[in-house]
Amino acid sequence: MSSSRAPAAEGGAGKLILSPLWNHVEKISKAPGGGGNYKVRCKFCSKIWSGSYSRVKKHFLGGGFGVKECTADPQTLKIFKTEHENALKRKGYVECS
Ligand SMILES: [Zn+2]
Repeated sequence: MSSSRAPAAEGGAGKLILSPLWNHVEKISKAPGGGGNYKVRCKFCSKIWSGSYSRVKKHFLGGGFGVKECTADPQTLKIFKTEHENALKRKGYVECS
């Protein structure tokens, strides 16, 4: 049995819903300096970096500086993108092009 339903992480369950991609990294420690930054390890490619949720997003969704994109298979990354988009919808807005 492999349940992917993660227990509520520190920081509050409400926050977790808006930040689903935290579920795919492991928080190793709080980064020095605070500000909501963490040292994290990707559960898929084992890459380690420090930063906020926006860097986690860039790792999985691409298009960022400072963080390499995840090398997980494209199918998996597509699921992450959907999770991210669903979270935005729950928040009450949709990113339009
Ligand atoms: Zn990765």
